[in-house]
Amino acid sequence: MVVPRPLKPLDYRVPEGMTLQRGDIVEVPLGKSGTCLGVVWGAGEGVLDQARLKSVAHHFDVPPLKEELLRVIAWVANYVIAPVGSVIDLVLRVPDALESEKPRIAFRRSTLNVHPARLTEARKRVLAVADDGMARRVSEFVEATGVTSQVVRSMVKTGLLEEVLLPPLGPGPQPDPAFVGPVLSDAQSRAAVHMVKAVQAHTFSAALLDGVTGSGKTETYFEAVAAAMQAGRQALILLPEIALTVQFLERFAKRFGARPAEWHSDLTQAQRRRNWRHVMNGEIRVVVGARSALFLPFKELGLIVVDEEHDSAFKQEDGVIYHARDMAVVRARMENCPVVLASATPSLETWINAESGRYAHLKLPERHGKATLPTASLIDLKREEMAAGEFLSPTLTQAVRDVLAQKEQVMLFLNRRGFAPLTLCKACGHKITCRSCSAWMVEHRYRKKLVCHHCGNERNIPAECPECKATKSFIACGPGVERVEEEAKIKFPGARIAIASSDTMGGPRQIQAAIESVADHAVDILIGTQIMAKGHNFPMLTLVGVVDGDMGLEGADIRARERTFQLLHQVAGRAGRADRPGRVLVQTTDPQHPVLKAIASGDRDAFYRAEAGKREAGGLPPFARLAAIVLSGWKEQQVREAGEALVAAAPVAHGVQVWGPAPAPLAMIRGQSRMRIAVHAERSVNMQAYLKAWLGTPKLPAGIGLTLDVDPQSFL
Ligand code: ADP
Ligand code: ZN
Repeated sequence: MVVPRPLKPLDYRVPEGMTLQRGDIVEVPLGKSGTCLGVVWGAGEGVLDQARLKSVAHHFDVPPLKEELLRVIAWVANYVIAPVGSVIDLVLRVPDALESEKPRIAFRRSTLNVHPARLTEARKRVLAVADDGMARRVSEFVEATGVTSQVVRSMVKTGLLEEVLLPPLGPGPQPDPAFVGPVLSDAQSRAAVHMVKAVQAHTFSAALLDGVTGSGKTETYFEAVAAAMQAGRQALILLPEIALTVQFLERFAKRFGARPAEWHSDLTQAQRRRNWRHVMNGEIRVVVGARSALFLPFKELGLIVVDEEHDSAFKQEDGVIYHARDMAVVRARMENCPVVLASATPSLETWINAESGRYAHLKLPERHGKATLPTASLIDLKREEMAAGEFLSPTLTQAVRDVLAQKEQVMLFLNRRGFAPLTLCKACGHKITCRSCSAWMVEHRYRKKLVCHHCGNERNIPAECPECKATKSFIACGPGVERVEEEAKIKFPGARIAIASSDTMGGPRQIQAAIESVADHAVDILIGTQIMAKGHNFPMLTLVGVVDGDMGLEGADIRARERTFQLLHQVAGRAGRADRPGRVLVQTTDPQHPVLKAIASGDRDAFYRAEAGKREAGGLPPFARLAAIVLSGWKEQQVREAGEALVAAAPVAHGVQVWGPAPAPLAMIRGQSRMRIAVHAERSVNMQAYLKAWLGTPKLPAGIGLTLDVDPQSFL
């Protein structure tokens, strides 16, 4: 039995009269007086004293988890080195989905024909609505009449309305694969035919759908989704961010006549419960979701699509640390179905898999219709005359003016929230840092606060410098989107300017509203961070200005160059989607940098080849394996000593090197000191076996936390 806790499987007795099979979901006693869910993993092993075992308390009336899913769970647990129970916890996130749905209570006009002497206005309004005899929920009466729910309930008491039970809600209308999609271009059809055949083959295969932004990747993989439904199977589409889904859902509904089911953190508990159940019983045909959708109990999965597969949002960075793209490939293998990875800028790993023939490489080299790819050019900031505190060069400024004169739109891209990343005392050079993290405080001028982007700490800009006591000596260094907005307001008077970053917009709905206002041309200049970088269609946007092309190019992160390339490429893809050609201008102090040269030349594959060569020469993934261990604790010395002891205990193995401990680049977060240890292994090494042999019985001192990240994406 596996319980959704970080534990190994536990043994329980099956009570008389209950029969259980592997995968069954049950309730079991755990601890002194508690109970919890459990999944039957198999018969207990060894000689057990039956009398001492506790009994299974309850067997839920749902089908057992399928063998395919159990194998995925075991595989993930083994690969990321997490207890099986922690992975089961990802599957059993909606315990109330296991109870059969209760009927819903509704009310209708009483058939007893009660006529009270006097009716209040409010009651009259309710009766007028109820006159049609239809049963409604209290909330529906409230919505239709504007009365309070007490009025409706009091009418039930007096017998004016009577209670009826409605059956539980079904999954709602389902997408219809018979709806006809657009006529595909030749390249699109070739890719679609390949994917449709893969779905029909009903066995594992992997493909990279590699198409420039706007080439119709979505339209093309929709054909494969239709094929999965036609074959009577389900399809799962993973998207990196929930912000993307609103537009996506509408598009999907246009193509298939109904929306797909959603799965992400923004659902209500009732929606989760219903979706989980209907995915399990197969009534839901298509799910669009964030990475956690990977652990849904599909009845019969026929296709997985990972859209924007390169996106780092697919990496789950806490709890069970896993990469949803990689685990999607694993799940497809176990389910005997194809997986399609789609991107205009694939991850280097996936690109290499496609180039080497391990994955099919489906290419859509052209934008759909008349749209052409934007041309990119670099602005060498060393040759531009700019005052201190100015961030838009004369060349970029002129280009913006030209575009505005044409009544077209501009996006100024800067991947930095707030006003300025650093606040510095001009008298003594003192930098304001967070008290509990090793990071600068970022000024947010709208909120008149300094904010730590790592722990969320806020404080006011101090009146005097804590170091030299100078007053009014603090100055803002470097740009954030708010500062670019300030400059844009001065340089482009009369232009309608909007800012879009994750902290200026509360959630997916506000992001959607911002997207719509740009699409409706209610905005002339959009200043945005990476949340505006991908997926959206802005037909009148013809210029993208990248304010700081140097940002993120170097750093401890082995993927810094790749990430920057992908981000700049995606941003560039926003320009010129309709029949107006687009232009991209990238400001840089290093126009010779290979990433920027690749952006300017548009030769993506040259960049990938060079980057792959670098990784191979440096013995870095995907040509080698990496794992990262982060130790954390309140006392720096203690963390360091624990790290040294752990490294000293590392087994010696051929092809494995252990580096560290070294202070993490973010040496302190929320007051906790952090040390990193890196494990580097040749591809032939079984990293999991090595790590288990080493960390199987870690003897860490109390107060020291350990996180293990296999295939790390973040190096902070
Ligand atoms: P991608 O996912 O590659 O960025 P999309 O699938 O979003 O590209 O397509 C870009 C635009 O072109 C969308 O508006 C889409 O509806 C349209 N489009 C793509 N292919 C076709 C086609 N064959 N017929 C009609 N419209 C298409
Ligand atoms: Zn902080």
